[in-house]
Amino acid sequence: MTDRTPPAVHLRIGSERRSSGSGGVHQHVNPVTGQSDAEIPLAGEAEIDEAVRAAHAASAGWRGTRPADRRRLLHKLADLLDGNGAEFARRGTLDNGTPISVAGGFVPQSSDWTRYYAGWADKISSDLTAFHSKDGEIGYTLAQPYGVIGVIITWNGPLISLAMKIPAALAAGNTVVVKPSELTPFCGELFADLAEEAGFPPGVVNILPGAPEAGAALVSHPLVKKITFTGGPATAKKILHSCADLMKPACLELGGKSANIIFDDADLDAACSHGTFMSVAVLSGQGCALPTRMLVHEPVYDAVVGRVAEIAKSITVGDPFDPATVSGPVVSKAALGRIMGMIEQAKLDGARLVTGGARLEGALAAGYFIEPTVFADVDPASQLAQQEVFGPVLAITPFRTEDEAVEMANSTPYGLSAYIQTTDLRRAHRVADKLVTGEVLVNGAVNLGVHRPFGGVGLSGFGKEGGRAGLEEFLQVKSVAMV
Ligand code: NAD
Repeated sequence: MTDRTPPAVHLRIGSERRSSGSGGVHQHVNPVTGQSDAEIPLAGEAEIDEAVRAAHAASAGWRGTRPADRRRLLHKLADLLDGNGAEFARRGTLDNGTPISVAGGFVPQSSDWTRYYAGWADKISSDLTAFHSKDGEIGYTLAQPYGVIGVIITWNGPLISLAMKIPAALAAGNTVVVKPSELTPFCGELFADLAEEAGFPPGVVNILPGAPEAGAALVSHPLVKKITFTGGPATAKKILHSCADLMKPACLELGGKSANIIFDDADLDAACSHGTFMSVAVLSGQGCALPTRMLVHEPVYDAVVGRVAEIAKSITVGDPFDPATVSGPVVSKAALGRIMGMIEQAKLDGARLVTGGARLEGALAAGYFIEPTVFADVDPASQLAQQEVFGPVLAITPFRTEDEAVEMANSTPYGLSAYIQTTDLRRAHRVADKLVTGEVLVNGAVNLGVHRPFGGVGLSGFGKEGGRAGLEEFLQVKSVAMV
């Protein structure tokens, strides 16, 4: 049986590991039992300042490190991530109740992101910007690191969120100060251990759990030259206000209310299975890019609603340490209250509850478990269709024409991902072109492939992670010209 003892957590500043900080402590709550299971030391403004100074001090050395050595260290880190897969899966489950099979799946994905950016470390090149005029001007560009990057992440994918930001920042020659969510500190501790074991010089990677105040201190620190943030739009607005004072750039990966358009020519078995698991099973619906709005072509509407309900009822919700569990609890009591409130509001707004809608009873009643919940006939203007739930709740709405589907899909303030299910290639291209989102996934194409830039528009934020664009977020281009 898997050991369920939470590991000790430290503030990792330079080569130091401290077991207390001026931010006090956070009582980590096990979402399966609702009981506190660990005390997490929190960084305050003082430790954030120390970590930023350590990262700043390490900056010149890291920037001057041979690109091939940066590549080698990142590859070593990727190997260590893979080598510690079982422990990362255990910690991911302890962090937030992610089922152990799902938490385990984040490990190869995270090492993939790390290897991809390892590969970029020695391929950052310049452009020759040509000759101009009679005086024979010649120019070129230099793509240079910013210096210290402030990394602030949320709790829903504690390992993959680290892997989506840190390797790209390091490959580009920056150093990082990372503030994981106070709710999920366990994966970050192991990531810091492995960065040290891989041989990154002290100060290049600093990881400190902290409350929002620590995040705010990181954002406003004058030695932090860029912020990369994953979290909610309300926090992102505060971060942007603070960045404005120092004219500091930020990359913001925020929420979503992604539409999944199912046309009547789709492979309905695949579409219903994908659309249900990805909305009310995976991470208990706590994923920014999940297809949480299903828009269904009228001729197949009743058939789809029926199939989705059957699949949702078959999802095993339960103890996340049980390998058979597909969906675990939601992260916290506050999340539970918010999600149940949105379910009640959906009923008041006239949506038809097809399945779910309640907390689990019996042995798991003390935990934060919610049944996979499906609403049909959801008014596209209602709260359930317009706002992110971040819980296992799917909203299904019918549409008559392609234009109507596109209009509905584009009707929320978000714009992270969109999904199209069709066998008509021309339609797939046509609709993909019209969707106002950062990405479009057709017929079950998988999210978060490292080679593809990921990031939204509108209330979903701006900036990219993944692909070359994800590297360029961490580089500033300088022009040099001479005559
Ligand atoms: P949140 O914004 O409350 O918190 C995110 C992080 O910001 C935490 O580490 C928190 O401590 C920190 N923080 C809070 N206030 C701060 C402040 N004033 N200054 C600096 N840092 C501060 O987000 P949440 O509610 O925990 O996370 C859920 C949100 O994250 C959802 O909207 C979800 O869609 C989004 N998300 C987005 C992605 C993506 O890649 N686009 C991935 C996962 C989650």
